[in-house]
Amino acid sequence: MYRQPVLKNRRTLLERAEKFISDVYFTDCNLRGRLYGDSCPLESLASFLSSKRIPFTEAAKQNFAPHKVGDTFGPTWWTCWFKVSLKIPESWRGKEVHLLWESDGEAMVWRDGQPVQGLTKEGEKTSYILSECLKDEEPHSITLYVEVACNGLFGAGQGSMIAAPDPNRKFSVQKAQLVVFNRDVQEVLTDFEMLVDIVKELGEGEQRGYQALFTVNEMVNLCDPSDPRSFSKARSLAHSFFSQRNGESQHTAHAMGHCHIDSAWLWPYEETIRKCGRSWVTVIRLMEKNPEFVFTCSQAQQFQWVQSWYPGLFSQIQDYVKKGRFIPVGGTWVEMDGNLPSGESMVRQFLEGQRFFNHEFGIVCKEFWLPDTFGYSAQLPQIMQGSGVSNFLTQKLSWNLVNTFPHNTFFWEGLDGSKVLTHFPPGNSYEMKGKVEDLVKTVKNNKDKGRANHSAVLFGFGDGGGGPTQLMLDRLERVQDTDGLPKVQASTPDKLFSQLRADSALLCTWTGELFLELHNGTYTTQAQIKRGNRRCETLLHDIEIAGSLALCRDGTFQYPAEQLQKLWRLLLLNQFHDVIPGSCIEMVVEDALRYYEDIQSDGAKLLKEACGALGSKGNAAGVFNSLPWERQEVIQIQDGAGEPAVGILCVSFQADGSVLMENGILKMVINKDGTLASLHLINANREAISNGCHGNQFVMFDDVPLYWDAWDVMDYHLQTRKPVLEVVQPIHVVSSGGLRSSVSFTLRISDKSTIKQEIVMDAMCPYIKFNTEVQWAESHKFLKVEFPVRVRSPNATYEIQFGHLQRPTHRNTSWDWARFEVWGHKWADLSEHNFGVALLNDCKYGYSVHENTMTLSLLRAPKAPDANADMGTHHFTYAIMPHAGSFQEASVIQSAYNLNFPLRSIQCSPNTIPWSAFSVSSAAIILETIKQAEDRKRALVLRLYESHGSSVTTTLCTTLPVREAWHCDLLERHDPTQPAHMTSEGITLTFSPFQIVSLLLIL
Ligand SMILES: [Zn+2]
Repeated sequence: MYRQPVLKNRRTLLERAEKFISDVYFTDCNLRGRLYGDSCPLESLASFLSSKRIPFTEAAKQNFAPHKVGDTFGPTWWTCWFKVSLKIPESWRGKEVHLLWESDGEAMVWRDGQPVQGLTKEGEKTSYILSECLKDEEPHSITLYVEVACNGLFGAGQGSMIAAPDPNRKFSVQKAQLVVFNRDVQEVLTDFEMLVDIVKELGEGEQRGYQALFTVNEMVNLCDPSDPRSFSKARSLAHSFFSQRNGESQHTAHAMGHCHIDSAWLWPYEETIRKCGRSWVTVIRLMEKNPEFVFTCSQAQQFQWVQSWYPGLFSQIQDYVKKGRFIPVGGTWVEMDGNLPSGESMVRQFLEGQRFFNHEFGIVCKEFWLPDTFGYSAQLPQIMQGSGVSNFLTQKLSWNLVNTFPHNTFFWEGLDGSKVLTHFPPGNSYEMKGKVEDLVKTVKNNKDKGRANHSAVLFGFGDGGGGPTQLMLDRLERVQDTDGLPKVQASTPDKLFSQLRADSALLCTWTGELFLELHNGTYTTQAQIKRGNRRCETLLHDIEIAGSLALCRDGTFQYPAEQLQKLWRLLLLNQFHDVIPGSCIEMVVEDALRYYEDIQSDGAKLLKEACGALGSKGNAAGVFNSLPWERQEVIQIQDGAGEPAVGILCVSFQADGSVLMENGILKMVINKDGTLASLHLINANREAISNGCHGNQFVMFDDVPLYWDAWDVMDYHLQTRKPVLEVVQPIHVVSSGGLRSSVSFTLRISDKSTIKQEIVMDAMCPYIKFNTEVQWAESHKFLKVEFPVRVRSPNATYEIQFGHLQRPTHRNTSWDWARFEVWGHKWADLSEHNFGVALLNDCKYGYSVHENTMTLSLLRAPKAPDANADMGTHHFTYAIMPHAGSFQEASVIQSAYNLNFPLRSIQCSPNTIPWSAFSVSSAAIILETIKQAEDRKRALVLRLYESHGSSVTTTLCTTLPVREAWHCDLLERHDPTQPAHMTSEGITLTFSPFQIVSLLLIL
């Protein structure tokens, strides 16, 4: 037979195939135009609008009014419930019948009182399958409910995704009808799409791309859209192409369904519950049809939400978890921020998460799963290992603005030397679509070619939920082993990491933190959230210690385990990676602050009860100190008759209007504008403030990032530095003599914003406190405070979880200057041999130390996604502490605890003898946590860590009636082969640098 030649014109051949499956062009005659057959209108459509998110049972009782397709509803955040009555025509016997539903918003289909499937246009889900092959005995008349949330997958940003939500958005249903779905057309379309994409992705340099081109061209020749009988010839051509196999050495892509659901972000917590329901019920539907499909799912909190809101769905999930297909991953309560939560908070993320997964599903996660957070603390490897986790998956470092992270698969070594096997999916995404592009990227971007031959491919709509679709599964199914593409297998995190570990001899090691060179404004944005977090971490710490001691002293005391778990879970929830960083909308901020208030008010009651049990009430006052060292702090204990102690403070005005203050340790001169002219460490005879400079200098910067407003502070903001110089009220003495002296002053930042500050010097205290109140009404400005100090060092030290690390003070390399804004916890220190200065804080996290200037970041004013972020009044305290010797020798760490942990006064009987529950013989060891054991009422768990970066043997002494002591892990699982070494002196413990040790004490 004569055939026309196929000319050498790649472009026309390729575009011809593209047009054949286009949903825009030539749909009158192309294949895409045949996807749907007959259609038929609904019997009736009626709606009911609710301002609240209500359960189905309540919604179904409401009066529904007739609704026409195209009618609008809303506004944003409301819910429109639809009652859909439909009748499938008998003549559709043997056909696949769908309810086609195209609407704005995110929808859930309810049938017989149960959620059955999510429908979201943005998530490419617009079909609910009524019958795969209509039979006479199937019901033809059906009533469904469709619950439409008035928000998109990414909330309702006005104009751009991250803009503040538009509160008045209107929504509509554009299509609601019954259709015949031509599955055979869909199958050929998928063949075509994959081949066209192979042509495009492999490009002109690869022979395999041309083979795909000629295959797809011939398929167009063979395929007559109007004659389904012609499809099989085209399909078999495609099949032959897809089944040409790879060699053995080809890279393997481990395909796992995933659905990243931010626990709150551009939508409130409450909507997330429904996002989980919609996304996960759809996953279950896909599992029923696709026996190979595996889905990975993180965040115990979200499981718990689904458990209480959708119990039927939860039990279906439990079944698929048992089958190893719906796989809980990550081991944490939420996917938390990787920088800001305290060490103990991070432990609790794992403790609550792993215990939940173990209780509900009988599993302990072996991998930490945090694809989307803004940097990773150097202590995480140790915390993971202590929580039963030895693998780690993320991809966020691909967002680095300056330096390209050099590895995809490597060992990550933490501060203490703990190592975890770490994988960054080379496709740099946690929401792939199963497309050829995703697979090609996975191979091309892999920076460990020849070292690691396996990679994760996580597919499914994410961030706002959505998850995988049938189409994604169909795409991947076609190219399981197709020459030219990586092999694709449905896999699990376990399989992936075991493969990587089995062949890990050539993997590199990265030591220390995984610093994200982006989103560095998140250490500062939403100051009230940061403050709430620090306050609540401190409060829960104190309640647990007071409760534990009360438990030991008073046999009738009920340790408030359940209430504490509730409060911890709220705190952990707010540590989610768009809440504590401050990158969320205003509604989320309101929820978060309310949760902090709940923790503080409920916590205050619990603390009072525990302290009451400790003090066995009387009319004398006592002090409860939750820190196991002597506090150098102003303590005035009065029993009513006592006189305040005589102070040793001296305050005097100088001729130039400045004030001289001295407390025996420090001597300082404060200028009229509140800046420090001098800060002198008396015994060492050292001046802390740099020559000719002023300490406590407030500075303002323009703060306009490139896009991610609440997230990003860019390097160029540093070029816009302006000191705050306008004095409203010059320095004046607030109190002098006694045990505390203080001066106060007020500065004007602008016509809208002011700073009022009290500088406090306490007797015997090694640091100066700056109690600060800021009225803040700026726009895109950044307020910081600077201390230029008389110290020269190439590195500054920052406190992190259970330890500290150093970062450079110079800008030698791109890796150095990319860290122009960094995070730290309660303190940062700049020391040279034998002298240094520490800058402490009680609720801040953003720092920078450049050359000899130490800077604390105070307030930002981004406008998206919260248009009112940080507007209003702020209170915070920071402190400056010059010291002789090293910061370790000078007790900077203890001082930072003292600044953060208030002394709690308690009532006690007049003849109470002071007592100490625990003491540790080495100053390097911090006893961080004392709590009741999770699984044993008459047992305590203690957590200690080595804070100096040294190897130490120490003795832990206790006056409590301890019968046995065991080492345990962070999940409180004790090792029966590892009793703690108890002597008459106490328990002997050995630590390596920054090691965390947990003990189980049986009472
Ligand atoms: Zn996220």
